[in-house]
This record gives sequence, structure tokens and C-alpha cells, in this order.
Amino acid sequence: MVKTISTVNLYDAHNHLHDEWLLPHLDRVAADLAGIGIAGAVVNGSSPDDWPQVSALASRFSWVIPSYGVHPWDCGNRPSDWLGRLESRLATEPRAHVGEIGLDRWMLERAAPNDPRLTGLRRAPLNEQIEVFSAQLALVAADNRVASIHCTDAWGALFDILRAAQLPARGFLLHAYAGPSEMIKLFADLGAYFSFNGSYLISKRENQRHAFKNVPADRLLIETDAPATPLPPSHERFHLPPSPTGGRLNHPANLAAIYTGLAQFLGLRDDQLAPQVEENFRRLFL
Ligand SMILES: [Zn+2]
Repeated sequence: MVKTISTVNLYDAHNHLHDEWLLPHLDRVAADLAGIGIAGAVVNGSSPDDWPQVSALASRFSWVIPSYGVHPWDCGNRPSDWLGRLESRLATEPRAHVGEIGLDRWMLERAAPNDPRLTGLRRAPLNEQIEVFSAQLALVAADNRVASIHCTDAWGALFDILRAAQLPARGFLLHAYAGPSEMIKLFADLGAYFSFNGSYLISKRENQRHAFKNVPADRLLIETDAPATPLPPSHERFHLPPSPTGGRLNHPANLAAIYTGLAQFLGLRDDQLAPQVEENFRRLFL
């Protein structure tokens, strides 16, 4: 019998299920996720303020894998004791990973001064971001945890840091990989996995989509980044009301539609792609 997408296990390599904009809808979202066959989701905190919410979700749902980190957007406003707090949280949570961490040059050079997503944030210069990122990388390497890495417009700097750093033996995730195709092999040789984001199904994001043709099959993962980065409306199967600031929110159960969209793009059947992603996800995160 040919399996359909609803009878396979699905895995979200990167989301923010604890986000305050999802909170009012959480019961419905969880039911919808059960309906699509969610079997694992890495939920990423981005500053010490939201780590307790991530931890609470991991206690409530067995399929939530908690990940804690200081995101480059939150780097400039981090509290002085952030590293000690991260170390003590990791010490009590052996299943936890580290993320979302990374480098963001877009915020410094291309983001509008009044971008609502960055309101109230001090935009840490790249040197400061590198210092905070490197401290977190050292923790993941020491404990062999997974680092979930965010990078915009800083691929060369990221590669130089990773090449010189001690890295976890199990590998690391480049979430929503949007770097050059030619760098995929270089990163893969260092242990990278690459997660395909649903926004890459938007027709004009052709470069990001096409790069995934070069990702080795055993390093491919899929992510929603929900409630961020919505799919094109034509692919969306689950809907949420707009955010308080009027933006579109991405329902985490659109994960299934991303599997379908990527399978079509790669010329695979859903029942070929899903077992490969399952194997990759379990090898990296579990
Ligand atoms: Zn994210």
C-alpha cells in the first residue's frame, strides 16, 4: 500500500511554538499538529526571557525538543548573566540543544531603521555577535549538542568561524539555508544539515529553492520557522488570524504542505521524502 502524507511521521527542524503570538491558539495548533502526524519539532528560544516557555512546552508535549540560545537580534539586549543562565539550564536538561544562535548582517546593513520586527532592539555590531555566537558554539561542542544556526549576509564570516571552531561530533543545523549553492559542500564537510523553509516555495525565491538541489540527501531537513516566514497562500493549508501588528502568521501545521511542496520541487513522492527526513532528523537531534 502506498503511504499518504497523513500516515507518516513529520518533523519540524526549526520553529518558535512558544511565541506569544501562537499562545492564544495553542490548543488548536497542537490538535492540528497531531492531525498531520507531528513526531518531532525543535522549538527554539531566542533570549533568556523566552527559555522558560520553551521548557514548559517540552514538558507538555513529548514531541517537542527544546533548544535555548541568544539570537543575533537579541544579542544587543542580552542580560549580563546570560551565559551562566544558559549553562545552568543545559546542565539540568540533557535532551536540550542550543539555538537559535548565529550572525545577522542584514539587520545591520539592509533592515529599515523602523522595521517593526526590530523595534526596541539594540542592533549588536558583528564583532559582538561573533563573540556571543562563539561562546554558545563552545558549549555545544563540549556537550555534543546540536547548534541551530541563523545566518543572513554573513556566510563567509560564518564559514571562517565554523572551520576554526570545535564543533559537535553529531553535526549542526543551518536553519533556512539561504547561502550560496557553492558553499553547501564546504558546510556539509564540516557537519552541516540544511533545513528547507516553507517561504522558499514563493516563486521569486528561486535561488534559495534551487540551492536545495545540491544538499546531500542525508543532510536534508524541513522547517516551518512558525509563526514566522509564511508559505505562499496557494500552499497554505492551515490559517491563523493576523498578528497584533497585522502581519501574516505561519501556522506550524503547514509543515505537511512544505513536505509536499519540496517533494514536488525535487521530483520525489511524499513517501520517498518523508522517510529520508525522518532518518536525518532522528540522527541529528535524538
Ligand atoms: Zn527561527
